[in-house]
Order: sequence, then structure tokens, then C-alpha cells
Amino acid sequence: MKPGRPPFTARVVAWIGFAMLSCPASASAANDGLGPGEQAVAATAREPGAVIIREHIVLVWPNDLKPQWYAESQVHNPGEMADWLETAFRFSARWMRFDPNEHYARRNGENIRLIFVHNGSSDFDFGGKRPSIGLRDLKNPVAGSEDWFGWLAHELSHDFWHEHPAFERVKQVWGEGMCDYERYCLLLNMGMPEAARRWSQSLQEGNPDDRYRGGAWMLLRFQRAHSLDGPAALWNYLWDKDFAATLGKPQWIKY
Ligand SMILES: [Zn+2]
Repeated sequence: MKPGRPPFTARVVAWIGFAMLSCPASASAANDGLGPGEQAVAATAREPGAVIIREHIVLVWPNDLKPQWYAESQVHNPGEMADWLETAFRFSARWMRFDPNEHYARRNGENIRLIFVHNGSSDFDFGGKRPSIGLRDLKNPVAGSEDWFGWLAHELSHDFWHEHPAFERVKQVWGEGMCDYERYCLLLNMGMPEAARRWSQSLQEGNPDDRYRGGAWMLLRFQRAHSLDGPAALWNYLWDKDFAATLGKPQWIKY
């Protein structure tokens, strides 16, 4: 090594650090690392925002948004919010044995990750070639609140059921319940047992005629009654089965 010259690895690390500092992400600018389809969705953001990219998800975060973070989430900033969504995506893909990113990439010939963006769309938005998630008005639920994390878990779950090879057939009747059940499982496995316990309580006390909480409680009650070890075991059990014959008649359907 020549004297006076830092080792190669130190130079590379310094360059990467400089590159990260000198390229602040912006929803309005082209973002290196986003494909064309992803850039088109990110560009729909209502206000300037940071584009935070993870392996499976993209979060477009309004620059002026400064939430009060629900403490149990261990999320303190937008980067950790993106990490939380990435981890939730990975749990879901494992439990449901399905990766929606891969599914749509095969169809579109282009990889478009699941994007969360505040653009005037609400909830799970499946109009385009790749569904995305609109962040409502950031006030209902309040961004960063306990309910916000639960709501995101529910909406993220829709992405997995929408065209799931085994469960797409049941989503019309059971989809909202399946997402509210997944909400419980994600909160529990994301290290938020208090939020999960409160959600479980609310499912138990929910109206059986409600296809959201009523359906979720039927799934959770079945899982517990049959000592199934969490959502992977429940979905595996239900994979080829008739839901109504197995779980009971859905009371929110009036025949
Ligand atoms: Zn829903």
C-alpha cells in the first residue's frame, strides 16, 4: 500500500457515505433505485417527501410529517417506519407462502414493489397494474399512533390476499376478516404484544355480523381451539378447505 493513501475499503466506505448524503431522495425527482413503474407511483405524492426504499416495499414519507410515535412499535423515524413495513411484508410472505411483488413482476415484466404513498388514494388501491397503498389523510388514523400501525398491517395484508393462488376465491366473503386477523398476528410478531392484546380483545367483543372483526375472531378462535401455532399453521390448514364448512357460517352474509 502506498503511504499517505487510505486503504481501499476506507475509500469505498467514504465514497458511499458521500453518495448517500449528496443524493437526498425526493418524490418529485427521479430516484435512483426505483424502476419506471415505481417512479410513476412515487411521483403521485401530494407533497414533497422522502422516498425510502427497502427490498420489498417503498415508503414515500411527507417531509413535514412529524408523528408522535406509538412507543411499543420501537419506530422513531421514517426510516424505521420503512423497516417496520419491510419486516411485516416478510412475515406475511412467509406465512401466506406468496410474494405479491414476484407475482406482479411476472405479469408486468417489471418489478414494482409495494408502495405506500400519501396521494389522495385511501387504503388498498388496486386500480393499476400493481396495487399500492394510499395513506388516507394521515389523521384518521393519526400517523404514528397505535391504530396507525394496526391499520397499515391490515392494508398490507390485502396485497397478499388480492390475487393469492389459494385464497383469492374466498376474499369476497372472508377477505376483510383475514386482514383483521393478520393485523393481530403482525402486531404480535412485530414486538407489539400490548397492541395485539387490545386488538384481540376488540375482535372478541366485535359484532359477529361484522365481516371485519367478526370474521377475524372466527379465524383466531379456530386457530386457538385447534392449537395451531400462528398464521402459517392456520393458512396451511385452510389451504384446500371450504372456509364456511371449516370455520362456520359467516353471519355477515344474509342468505
Ligand atoms: Zn380491508
